[in-house]
Amino acid sequence: MELSSLKDIWKQTLLVIRKQLEKSEFLTWFNQTAIVSLDDETGDCKIGVPTIMFVDNLSGKYSDIICQAIEEVTEIEKISLTFEVITEIEKNHKVAVDVSALVKKEDTKKSTVKEVHLAEGVESKILSPKYTLSNYVVGGENQLAFAAAQAVARKPGHKYNPLFVYGGVGLGKTHLMQAVGNEVIKNFPKYKVCYVTSEQITNEIVQAIRSFKTNELRSKYRNVDLLLVDDIQFIAHKDKTQEEFFHTFNELYEHGKQIILSADRPPQELDQIEPRLRSRFEMGMSVDVQFPDFETRFAILQQKAKESEIIIPNDVLEFVAMNVHHSVRELEGILNQIIAQYELQQISPTVDSVAKLMKKTHKRQTLVGNSKMDGYTFESEKTPEDIIEIVCNNFKITDKQVKSESRKKHVLMARQLIMYLLKEAMDMTYEEIGDLFGGKEHSTVLHSCKKIKELMDTDPRVRKEVNQLLGMI
Ligand code: ADP
Ligand code: MG
Repeated sequence: MELSSLKDIWKQTLLVIRKQLEKSEFLTWFNQTAIVSLDDETGDCKIGVPTIMFVDNLSGKYSDIICQAIEEVTEIEKISLTFEVITEIEKNHKVAVDVSALVKKEDTKKSTVKEVHLAEGVESKILSPKYTLSNYVVGGENQLAFAAAQAVARKPGHKYNPLFVYGGVGLGKTHLMQAVGNEVIKNFPKYKVCYVTSEQITNEIVQAIRSFKTNELRSKYRNVDLLLVDDIQFIAHKDKTQEEFFHTFNELYEHGKQIILSADRPPQELDQIEPRLRSRFEMGMSVDVQFPDFETRFAILQQKAKESEIIIPNDVLEFVAMNVHHSVRELEGILNQIIAQYELQQISPTVDSVAKLMKKTHKRQTLVGNSKMDGYTFESEKTPEDIIEIVCNNFKITDKQVKSESRKKHVLMARQLIMYLLKEAMDMTYEEIGDLFGGKEHSTVLHSCKKIKELMDTDPRVRKEVNQLLGMI
């Protein structure tokens, strides 16, 4: 069959397949694929794919869908598929179809303006439109959480109330919650959706208590149809806040309003939270998100690379997916560094250049690769004390000050920065870091690291500073 018609056939086939899959799944597994040969007598059809992983996945999971779609498009009776790895198929073959263009076309057709409805007077961070259910990559480790989120978005306040999402840092809790928020706004434009961190809600409650306005606060929240409270574990030890939140929770619950909570651990393990509140949290559905397996990590990287519209070779993405072992945020962080390097220094990402880059931030880790990318073993030359010294010098304070209980702004900042660097660059655990600072609690260290990450997101100066320090380490 002629090349151009193979391309047409694949394009039509992809349109059929697209209808059956989520966008992210479709983009992940059908980009850089093509029909390279098709025999209309025997039905033998060869599909070109970029890496061996695609062969496994497409033949394992999608071959029925593909066969049926080709049969539908070509009217050939019985298609039998084989797969072949062909690198840079888009560049070298005229048969390749631009899959992202296909999807983009649908997007422009159905793009709608989003509007966030807030209950009057309720303070809320606006939901970030970048978090959606369709760009949440689903794998075994978050499947249940995703299914529950979808169900809640379809019928808020109906079945899983509250929905309690738990799991470690950077594993997609905030993304999932906000995605539900965005979806609910889309499905129920009149609904009032409110997203707060537990820190924000604590502040609000404390203020209300101080000014004797708790009734007003309660009536404000009563207007909300969907309340999202992120990182609820931080209301531990705060008795008044917990008491007030208990009433708000009941108020909403009794009126059939949907509540979604996230935390770093399941409700039963929130020791410092009142039992009656804990048991409320357990009333609905608890789902966990865990660190994704290799295939899902790879799919997430592909998805994020696609979103940033930069083409990164699959072997590079595979290398990153293989060498990240903690969180999706870390995965994304490395991808962002790769993109920055590409944009600023015009360095095209290769396994080598990325290995160098990761060497800076993964000091204590041995980087691994497949046969083509062997031999990346890196040892740290710096000790934790060196890092403390570097940061203290930068802030012109002493090692003693930084390890004291001082809450002076710049001392606090230096301390938080050190904790962050020890976590990110030295790969130390929260407990190890806590010990270094006179037995500080796991949650304190975690909070410090989180604080720095947030600052890096919002303040370019902090981002620059941290990157400079990482460079020195
Ligand atoms: P958490 O709230 O659990 O600390 P986040 O929701 O902030 O984690 O996730 C960290 C980053 O990783 C976000 O940018 C998010 O988009 C991304 N992420 C996490 N899980 C997924 C996933 N399954 N698919 C796509 N992106 C994800
Ligand atoms: Mg979060």
